[in-house]
Amino acid sequence: MTTDETRTGHRYVYEFAEGGKDQKDLLGGKGANLAEMTNLGLPVPPGFTISTEACRHYLEHGEEPPGLAREVDEHLARLERERGMRLGDGDDPLLVSVRSGAKFSMPGMMDTVLDIGLTDASVGGLARITRNERFAWDSYRRLIQMFGATVLGVDSARFDDAFEEAKRNAGADSDIDLDVHDLCALTGTYKQIVRSQTGRDFPQDPREQLVMAIRAVFESWNTDRARVYRRQERIPHTLGTAVNVMAMVYGNLGDDSGTGVAFTRDPATGKQGVYGDYLQFAQGEDVVAGIRNPVPLQDLERIDPGSYSELMEIMATLERHYRDLCDIEFTIERGKLWMLQTRVGKRTAAAAFRMAVQLLDDGLIDVAEALRRVTGDQLAQLMFPSFDRHPDAKPIASGVPASPGAAVGTAVFDSRAAEAATGPVILVRRETNPDDLPGIIAAAGVLTSRGGKTSHAAVVARGMGKTCVVGTDGLDIDYGQRQFTAPGGVVVAEGEVVSIDGTTGAVYAEEIPVVDSPVVEYFEGHLDPESPDADSVVAAVARMITYADERRRLGVHANADTPDDAARARRFGADGIGLCRTEHMFLGERRRHIESLVLADSHEARDKALAELLPLQIGDFVGLFAAMDGLPVTIRLLDPPLHEFLPDLTDLSVRVALAEQRGGADEGDLELLDAVRRHHEQNPMLGLRGVRLGLVVPGLVMMQVRAVAEAAAARIRAGDDPRPEIMVPLIGGAEEFELMREEIERVLADVAEASGVDVRAKIGTMIELPRAALTAGRIAETAEFFSFGTNDLTQTAWGFSRDDVEGSFFPAYLDKGIFPVSPFQSLDEEGVGRLVAIAVEEGRSARPGLTIGICGEHGGDPDSVHFFDGLGLDYVSCSPFRVPVARLEAGRASVLGEEGGGDSR
Ligand code: ADP
Ligand code: MG
Ligand code: MG
Repeated sequence: MTTDETRTGHRYVYEFAEGGKDQKDLLGGKGANLAEMTNLGLPVPPGFTISTEACRHYLEHGEEPPGLAREVDEHLARLERERGMRLGDGDDPLLVSVRSGAKFSMPGMMDTVLDIGLTDASVGGLARITRNERFAWDSYRRLIQMFGATVLGVDSARFDDAFEEAKRNAGADSDIDLDVHDLCALTGTYKQIVRSQTGRDFPQDPREQLVMAIRAVFESWNTDRARVYRRQERIPHTLGTAVNVMAMVYGNLGDDSGTGVAFTRDPATGKQGVYGDYLQFAQGEDVVAGIRNPVPLQDLERIDPGSYSELMEIMATLERHYRDLCDIEFTIERGKLWMLQTRVGKRTAAAAFRMAVQLLDDGLIDVAEALRRVTGDQLAQLMFPSFDRHPDAKPIASGVPASPGAAVGTAVFDSRAAEAATGPVILVRRETNPDDLPGIIAAAGVLTSRGGKTSHAAVVARGMGKTCVVGTDGLDIDYGQRQFTAPGGVVVAEGEVVSIDGTTGAVYAEEIPVVDSPVVEYFEGHLDPESPDADSVVAAVARMITYADERRRLGVHANADTPDDAARARRFGADGIGLCRTEHMFLGERRRHIESLVLADSHEARDKALAELLPLQIGDFVGLFAAMDGLPVTIRLLDPPLHEFLPDLTDLSVRVALAEQRGGADEGDLELLDAVRRHHEQNPMLGLRGVRLGLVVPGLVMMQVRAVAEAAAARIRAGDDPRPEIMVPLIGGAEEFELMREEIERVLADVAEASGVDVRAKIGTMIELPRAALTAGRIAETAEFFSFGTNDLTQTAWGFSRDDVEGSFFPAYLDKGIFPVSPFQSLDEEGVGRLVAIAVEEGRSARPGLTIGICGEHGGDPDSVHFFDGLGLDYVSCSPFRVPVARLEAGRASVLGEEGGGDSR
């Protein structure tokens, strides 16, 4: 293939003037933007870019693609003609930098070598032509140091040590105090280090230096740190890096020269102004490496007013051109300004929102573009509470920040204590499992000593928007003593205060003051974004969310089980309840009704238990309908297997056995144990639950339907407009649904007749088993709506038991790159997504206008929201706290397809 490409004139090398900013795939981010600046007529040193294709070829075949060497020769020759110098020439040497630059910026991950072309022969030429011998030797020692470390693989500490020693010997405080003799001697030492560490001399052929450096940049793509970084940032390993070869400009000639970095706006706040650092008498990375203290960019106005005003003009040009915050690198060589890099700069979440509305108001971007500039993740960050800045507080431990936010509470070590506590608590566990769920729900935050970002605790806490720190190495948790010991020896016992920071992973053994997010205050209706005390970020969020609402096609519903949650969801802008899980309604006190139901040995006993539950359940639904008056409330009939409401088999067996030893167990316990044994299942997730339960043991589920109907009747009588929708879980095919539907309709008709109120409810189903997705056409003949239960659909499509796999082998799977993110967090579009697509298509062709939503956790995940928008779903449903995020992302999904949607990374 490659030879073909060569024959057809395929090329790997491009002059800066040939490219543009939209060619990041081919030229890398750095190369594409150097090209853009060149074409804008800005002062960029000339050079060329070797494409990412060449790198991919190199990595795949272990050698450069054929023809690359010739192309590099041609472009180098052109550069030499343009500069009127030859690479490494003995009289007037051209020097170049060889710089890595991938599609997505990977700061500090890959390599760059400066001053290529210096040799024993050319260093003298450089000294003569610049009339600055010190500068020439300074550049030479820099080359050997950088080349030695990155190309030849010498431990950079060796050079650092030699450098420190040279400073000591010369009595020098900093690098600029070294004179030409010191630098000359240091260069000799460096060459010896290279020889002793690599067994060969530092290469004296400039062309060989260039070839080796290019190859080293290719190879730096696959260093461990680069791989780790990409995994974290979800950057594909297949992209490869481009290589930029650029004529050197010199900031280390003296005080009239220097190097700097700058932003066109403050990346922390988005405010316009002069932000940056400048270091005189310095080259490249010196300005950020901390070798000497740089000065604020404003000082450049005094140091070199000409360059300063030119820089200000260029920065304004760049901002107008990119219509965004840019960050830049520049160098001044004897009073002449050179632009070395620019890119659209990273920013904080607050800055992203402020800038989007500012640029919109300045007329630089339109509403659609403003929406593309902010993300749901950024909004989520702005919604978490945070610790008030507290410089004196010292963390006692540090873990993996798994779910952002700041939480303060007393330490508890199990669910029971968490539920019993009156004030806020932090649940501290080695790791969590589904048994800890009540504790996690009750706690303000979760702290574990084991597990990573995909552990049970992390996943569950993120789903609930609860602060969580996991994998806190060295945290020694003693359940018996009910205390933990931090790595430094600090002991925290149950009842003592801890603060955990889910954004940084820090753990404190004291109360750190927490401030609520003003953005949440706004959504709650407590803060008027127009008022003078509102931060400008709140006003920006308010505007952006309004634009998103105007644009979005998708409805956003909430998963809410209680009137409080429903009310909050409504305040946060939900268009209804997409999922009310009824199982929570049978926990706690009400458990005993379910126990009596299970133990009932006669119709009368069963009816009695149901009769006790009915009014309680009616009360539940009345509250929900009132909170969501006029909006749809989708109620899922009981889903989990009954045994979840019974005592644990092991606990109960132990209790009975102990009692028997003491001379006889309680009669009730024996009966209960018998029932628990009968209900025990090997794979309860695939057992008697969902619609199966409703068909085999109808009483309980039909009681729920009756409660829905009576609650609706009561609200209608009160003058409200309840919109109940009854959702049947876990069907595998049309027959199951049809039987359930008949039963449900009978009960609805019953209530309508008895109450004289015309109660109506839509009857639909979850699609959460592959078979249901594949037979959706038939199901839609009788179902009035579909809601994808993407959690179970993911479990059953992959055959993953979520509770088992996330905490055990998912970390290994993520590591191996089997998926870049847990399919429970972001929808697996290829597999599960295909099932969804099939069901949407066949469902809608059987019943045009079929309402389709999704109620799994994916409803609040930005990528998944975009996917569902693309499939034409009617709504997504997510936790109340995620509703604003989903609204924003639904709006963004509508505009992202339109032109201009670039990479937000
Ligand atoms: P990174 O991607 O880590 O920022 P760069 O390729 O930008 O690495 O280069 C490292 C440093 O060297 C930067 O400060 C850059 O501005 C400087 N630099 C790169 N090429 C040249 C050059 N041709 N002349 C002078 N300085 C350069
Ligand atoms: Mg750079
Ligand atoms: Mg389910």
